[in-house]
Amino acid sequence: MSRNPFETALNTLHSAGEAGGIDLKVIELLSKPKRIMEFTIPMRMDNGEVEIFTAYRVHCNDALGPVKDGTRFMPNLTLDEVKALALWMTIKHAVGGIPAGGGKGGIIVDPNKLSNWELERLSRAFMRKLPIKGAWVDVPGADIGTSTQTQAWMLDEYEEIMGFHSPAAVNDKPAAVNGTVGSWEATGLGVFYVAMEAFKDAGLDVGCTVAVQGFGQVGGTTARLLFDKGFKVVAVSDINGGIYSKDGINIAKLEEYVIETGSVAKFPGTKAISNEEVLELKVDVLIPAAVQSVINEENADKIAAKLILEAANGPITTAAETVLLNRNIQIVPDVVTNVGGAIVCHFERIQGLTDDYWDMDKVKEKLKERMMKAYQETKAVTDEKGTSMRVAAWINALQKVSAAIKIRGWV
Ligand code: NAD
Repeated sequence: MSRNPFETALNTLHSAGEAGGIDLKVIELLSKPKRIMEFTIPMRMDNGEVEIFTAYRVHCNDALGPVKDGTRFMPNLTLDEVKALALWMTIKHAVGGIPAGGGKGGIIVDPNKLSNWELERLSRAFMRKLPIKGAWVDVPGADIGTSTQTQAWMLDEYEEIMGFHSPAAVNDKPAAVNGTVGSWEATGLGVFYVAMEAFKDAGLDVGCTVAVQGFGQVGGTTARLLFDKGFKVVAVSDINGGIYSKDGINIAKLEEYVIETGSVAKFPGTKAISNEEVLELKVDVLIPAAVQSVINEENADKIAAKLILEAANGPITTAAETVLLNRNIQIVPDVVTNVGGAIVCHFERIQGLTDDYWDMDKVKEKLKERMMKAYQETKAVTDEKGTSMRVAAWINALQKVSAAIKIRGWV
């Protein structure tokens, strides 16, 4: 099976297009990005030498609105990865009911090898040299290797170039420069809202058991929210391994322990287990919230959960999904489960455009509304078409994008 991420994304596009009866010309259009920008950034390093960096920005499709989404600073970034992510964001925005197209970009660089001054110069240079940008065209956000700080530099550079303030031109910036509250928790909160709906549909109540792989921004937030609601989180893990307690782990105390020690490992009162064991536990709900492809051909037949919520991006390979579905394991796909981050980015843009900044209660209320809608719409298409929830989510998104493409007269 292909390991090229763009080919994988195209495979899903084609199979969902076929299952949903989407016009073939729409599928053909979506399989070719609207724009591919590749540019070089020559930059003088702290040691006086000039280094030349390669940068990308891909606009997949903007029928629903200006393109938005992340910027990766990664040493092994490829154009095919950026193209795949831009297509995937087109779908995700449509799933979340966000009036935006899909974009993605980045620089081939290892940010850990840059000094802080170099990182600032590179972030500013990316924004300066980005050929097409602005609140109504393309809104870059953060992703792997970038942060609220890089986004603040990008915004500042953009506003210096333009000569006016435009907070809606860059996403994932800190609240201090007109960002939004709630962006750090957004994805985990969204996972939690989806979990509440999916648990109901699966007949699971507060007595059910949950395992979470990954205890970072997404997994940690999700585990804490479930714990606060009274659910029994029996296992969690991070890159150093997992911990298990059949009576449930006190996630509030675990958070304090992680701040002190940097890891969940050896949390008192729990048994040490491996990351593989976390995935294979006999629990009601499994939430992979770490990295991609952790459930694959090698362990799909050992997964014992009834319901899997894909909080991470692409934690289940295509081959493993077939095995899991044949074993009647329910999967709520990443484009639904973790769309909360993209939704709050949309809220950030609304706030920047209106200069009216929301409090946390308003962010949570509006996020919950949209997460429930994304889940319910996907569920309805699943029931109507008799497909997996993943294919249903793509069909739902493709129907929205297709309607916009057609009414615009593009095909
Ligand atoms: P993070 O870096 O904050 O946390 C990742 C966690 O996974 C950490 O606890 C880390 O120790 C653990 N981990 C890393 N490699 C691992 C491995 N090989 N095995 C087990 N655990 C491992 O990252 P995050 O922001 O929480 O993102 C987690 C996933 O969610 C990623 O797939 C990301 O693409 C996806 N996601 C994140 C957001 C967001 O807003 N942060 C939005 C959508 C999707």
